[in-house]
Amino acid sequence: MKQNNNGTWVSWNENLKYNYKTMYNITSQEELQDVVASNKKIRFFGSKQSSADIAAGTDALINMTTYNKIVSFDYDKKTITVQSGLILGELLEAIESTGWCIPCLPDINTITIGGALATGTHGTNGKLLSEYMISCDLVLADGSVKTVTKDDELMDALRVSLGMLGVMSTITFQCEPAYTLHLKEGPEDDKEWLPKIKSRLKKHDFLRVLWLPHTNKGYVITGDKIDPDTEVIENLGPDYLKHRRTASKILYKYTHIFPWITAIANKLLYKGFFSSKKEHKGTLYQATVTKSRGSTLELAEWTVSLDKFPEVFKELKAEINKWSNKSFIHIPMDVRFVYEDKSWLSYAYKQDTVTMGCVSRNAATADTYEAFKTIENIFIKHGGRPHWGKRFAAKDKELQQIYPKWEAFKEVRAELDPTNKFLNPYLTELINAKIVVNETA
Ligand SMILES: Cc1cc2nc3c(=O)[nH]c(=O)nc-3n(C[C@H](O)[C@H](O)[C@H](O)COP(=O)(O)OP(=O)(O)OC[C@H]3O[C@@H](n4cnc5c(N)ncnc54)[C@H](O)[C@@H]3O)c2cc1C
Repeated sequence: MKQNNNGTWVSWNENLKYNYKTMYNITSQEELQDVVASNKKIRFFGSKQSSADIAAGTDALINMTTYNKIVSFDYDKKTITVQSGLILGELLEAIESTGWCIPCLPDINTITIGGALATGTHGTNGKLLSEYMISCDLVLADGSVKTVTKDDELMDALRVSLGMLGVMSTITFQCEPAYTLHLKEGPEDDKEWLPKIKSRLKKHDFLRVLWLPHTNKGYVITGDKIDPDTEVIENLGPDYLKHRRTASKILYKYTHIFPWITAIANKLLYKGFFSSKKEHKGTLYQATVTKSRGSTLELAEWTVSLDKFPEVFKELKAEINKWSNKSFIHIPMDVRFVYEDKSWLSYAYKQDTVTMGCVSRNAATADTYEAFKTIENIFIKHGGRPHWGKRFAAKDKELQQIYPKWEAFKEVRAELDPTNKFLNPYLTELINAKIVVNETA
């Protein structure tokens, strides 16, 4: 196994940096077991695309991206088993070429399977990606392997667990037959799209709203399943639309110094990039997932029950439209929908949920981006839950109020990892873990 010594670990947008003593580039489960067993403290990372400080911060680190093979297909059961460092895009291409899909995809394909599962990564109109995991070989703190299947109670704790219960080694996903979507996109006034959410969720197979703060508009994307041979006259809008992210980057360049520029920039971006209609067809992966990004970002995302969302939205809109408070928000705020599940740390635990993204196009100045604080204050007041992989300030005290199974999760974690091997300083504070004897940094 290759090792790197005494280097610096840097997250994708360079907002998190840690010196490490040893980084293990594992390629087999046996290597993973040995490395876990022989270190007192260890974290493991995938594509380093989380904004939350959850992936590094210990002297020993495991690079999971070198553990990245497709292990097997079961064609009768439509399942695929993969090593957890596999990049999501590679998994999706492999299952698509077999005629299968996973019906709820995030808008990113460069993340690893392990990273995606650990943080509750989701798409829209379905469940979290981790709900499609039906079996997982989990490497525990002592280096042994425990197979957890969908029928084990532990699975409800494991599906979303931030790598605090163990390292997910191989994962089996339940896939479904692939389908084709007919997508229609276009702008709508807030007073039009907001009241239609529930009826559209019933009517359409896909619904996503890119809300455009400071413009009173949302850009609504609906999708309906169609026969793949159905003819759709494709309209992808003018060619220059592909430059939207570059234009945003330029227009927002000085918004950390003069936040109010955001309101003007958003109106321009709306006119230039979100005011026309589009129509096209394709698979969920091909037609709805962004395949490349020109620049890095800093992200927050908050979630709240579907029933409470209209009230939260109105409060947020009123707050960010007050010019006095500097909470101007870059375009777009991605509004998506996740159906109720029973995973303990899922945003959708026992409630149909709306997720709302918040982006700063300038990652380096994200600390000065007031909007991250404003959105957190408003959502948390309404029992909203933060995306585990993104930026938020809430800790144990707040999280125990919003996750009914928070304490139960902490108990399971303490049983499986009695010496806090898998906790870095951020996670220790997040769950307010008791420092134990034998724990060394
Ligand atoms: C541009 C962009 C777009 C995004 N879009 C979406 C989206 O549409 N929907 C959404 O929900 N999220 C989205 N995210 C968030 C992203 O999905 C998560 O941050 C995800 O965790 C990143 O995966 P990663 O491979 O980079 O994991 P990392 O950031 O490297 O690690 C994340 C966590 O996973 C743990 N981990 C890694 N591998 C394993 C393993 N094998 N076993 C156990 N734990 C493990 C790490 O220890 C860490 O705690 C987006 C992020 C970016 C930057």
